Amino acid sequence: DRLISSGTVREEEVIDRAIRPKMLSDYQGQDHVRDQMEIFIEASKRREDALDHLLIFGPPGLGKTTLANIVANEMGVSIKTTSGPVLEKAGDLAALLTNLEPHDVLFIDEIHRLNPSIEEILYPAMEDYQLDIMIGEGPSARSIKLDLPPFTLIGATTRAGSLTSPLRDRFGIVQRLEFYKVEDLQDIVLRSASCLGLNMDSAGALEIARRSRGTPRIANRLLRRVRDYAEVKHDGDIDAEISSAALSMLDVDTCGFDYMDRKLLIAIVDTFSGGPVGLDNVAAAIGEERETIEDVLEPYLIQQGFLQRTPRGRIATPRAYLHLGFDYPEKQ
Ligand code: ADP
Repeated sequence: DRLISSGTVREEEVIDRAIRPKMLSDYQGQDHVRDQMEIFIEASKRREDALDHLLIFGPPGLGKTTLANIVANEMGVSIKTTSGPVLEKAGDLAALLTNLEPHDVLFIDEIHRLNPSIEEILYPAMEDYQLDIMIGEGPSARSIKLDLPPFTLIGATTRAGSLTSPLRDRFGIVQRLEFYKVEDLQDIVLRSASCLGLNMDSAGALEIARRSRGTPRIANRLLRRVRDYAEVKHDGDIDAEISSAALSMLDVDTCGFDYMDRKLLIAIVDTFSGGPVGLDNVAAAIGEERETIEDVLEPYLIQQGFLQRTPRGRIATPRAYLHLGFDYPEKQ
């Protein structure tokens, strides 16, 4: 069983590597971000400087890691990747920082989850390229200072609000990724299909794009499953009809909502009479962590107007009732 699952994971990784954009010109959508980054990268290359530190906000799967890797490729430097929760000790961060070559990128995913004592080491490192750490404990403890090469820190976070302001203030460039437009996702699906050597028409790609929750990771995942369906049930070619049949089989509805999205909406509409209801109550009702609801499920439902976040709690909108097939109660 383990062999099979690790084999599958490896295959997904190989596919992911093949379709992940490597340069800015392949990064579709997010035009505003791409235009700005093109200028900032070009300017620092001309000055022969490291790119200023970059903070990327956005829900999961919108392309934060991809953008970080693209920045390193465009700058022609190496990238070292880690994440907030993985960096447990000051020494872990020190080891990464002291191994950087000039202008390299250090990418810290989930940077809002950094331990505060490690965050403090980042301040002088980001500002003055200085490493200032304590080694040892008790009376023999001493502080050492080291010069670091000029480098670029790229931080990614799903939560704009959870970053401390001293950390946020040290990023010279801040980019916020938005959910993708259907046309952009359609281009992404077509590009991925061509990287995988699939024969797919643009109507087939549109069906997937419409149901991908504005998220490239979901679009690519659905494409892989539609490919399976097309290979087993047909000759492998993908058009609108095959996409649509495969997606219905996967239980992805016409708005791109999956089982968990619907479970959340139904809980609010049905169990809590449309709200307002507090996050903890919803979390308990559907057996999901608050963080997952806030970071993964809600942002798209709110952006699409199915849910509202108010000071008194979450409220389901008439659109949510309509989508789920419930009557919208006239409130007195
Ligand atoms: P995040 O780090 O925000 O969770 P990723 O960078 O891992 O998201 O992106 C998820 C997947 O979506 C990647 O495998 C990549 O292939 C694809 N992707 C993300 N952004 C884009 C984009 N702008 N254009 C094309 N593909 C993208």
